[in-house]
Amino acid sequence: MSTVVLDGAHIATVDASGSEFASGHVVITGNRITAVGPGRAPDVPPDARHVDASGCLITPGLVNTHHHLYQWITRGLAVDATLFGWLTTLYPVWGRIDADLVHTAATGGLTWLAKTGCSATTDHHYVFPRDGGDVLHAEIAAAQRVGLRFHPTRGSMDLGRSRGGLPPDNVVEDIDAILAASEAAIDDYHDTSFDAMLRIGVAPCSPFSVTGDLLKQTADLARRKGVRMHTHLCETLDEEDFCRQRFGCSPVEYVESLGWLGPDVWLAHAVHLTDPSIAALAATGTSVAHCPTSNARLGAGICRSRDLRDAGVAVGLGVDGAASNEACSMLEEVRHSLLFARARGGPEALTVRDALDMATMSGARVLGRADEIGSLEVGKLADLAVWRLDTLAHIDIADPVAALVLGAPPPLELLMVNGTSIVEHDRPVTIDEDTLARDVRTASRTLSKRAGAR
Ligand SMILES: [Zn+2]
Repeated sequence: MSTVVLDGAHIATVDASGSEFASGHVVITGNRITAVGPGRAPDVPPDARHVDASGCLITPGLVNTHHHLYQWITRGLAVDATLFGWLTTLYPVWGRIDADLVHTAATGGLTWLAKTGCSATTDHHYVFPRDGGDVLHAEIAAAQRVGLRFHPTRGSMDLGRSRGGLPPDNVVEDIDAILAASEAAIDDYHDTSFDAMLRIGVAPCSPFSVTGDLLKQTADLARRKGVRMHTHLCETLDEEDFCRQRFGCSPVEYVESLGWLGPDVWLAHAVHLTDPSIAALAATGTSVAHCPTSNARLGAGICRSRDLRDAGVAVGLGVDGAASNEACSMLEEVRHSLLFARARGGPEALTVRDALDMATMSGARVLGRADEIGSLEVGKLADLAVWRLDTLAHIDIADPVAALVLGAPPPLELLMVNGTSIVEHDRPVTIDEDTLARDVRTASRTLSKRAGAR
């Protein structure tokens, strides 16, 4: 088995006691972390790869808990709209995607995530055009090509406009088809092993695009198969109004009545939460994917991250789709989570280390991978990011973690996923970035021409 030794770096382990080493080492054997601590690495085999990481900060790889990768080729549309206005502009465009376009879009989105320090990501894919081919397979193939740890969800919509939903009827599917396809995706791809690179979840889209029947039956399926459940909830006040008018209760009460709170559920956004709703999430072990940039871009509001954390709810960070966050940088989410929390709740609303925790260990909890990833500890999988902090942008910032969270995005010296280098010196290892950029442009123009969007 190959060994990689990194030393000379400031190491933020994000373990339970927040251990940090001002000049420390990490040793990786195969796909596991086999040593982490202060000073030089002990007992290095002579054929080990040695990485001099002096001037760098090593953190766990960042964990992205909410995304829509296909949106990488529908960026910059409806840029000044509300969520519902933005969605109704974009649904007809999204309705024309196919497997080839999704493969290119996902390769673009995943490569960019890697460049921003992300080693593990979910995806919420909920648009399955009838003649679009196997779009879920297309994004799984993209993740295998780029090399990220991947937790895609088989999403769905079954509540079209003619039945009071928001999406047009031609982008929704039949409930039986959704359940059959979800079960097939789990059977084909879900890997329960400790070092799994691929796990499947299920994810009806949102209260205004799916029926209660679909939510209920998807929950039954997920629990029968032992997979995690994901949906959008409490993103905007429009959604709150929709639920009160249609169901006579809050969004959290609505999904709770359908079996959608629990330790196997994570909710994207959770911006508009009452105190009883926060208590319900805490009591049931439900977790949250907080997407500060997307929420601000759509003017939706800001998640009560401090209150949720204080209540014991696991809050991870998510970039959300690129159509509502053209940057899709995981590191930017860390910075925004801190700035927006303080803008909302004052100077003590979040510490820089809270923000790093949300992007790493808490994100791992949200995806059900707390034992395997999210911190730098012996026995865990070797997913880590090495950030260069000795250039003009960061040189001599007193606190390296503050330099990462509050400073400009630093060069990414190295990103390792499962013990393999995915990014080195800011360049992807597995993908030719310039060719990919041209492919993304072609795919984006193909889709907009097909949809008549420009
Ligand atoms: Zn989303």
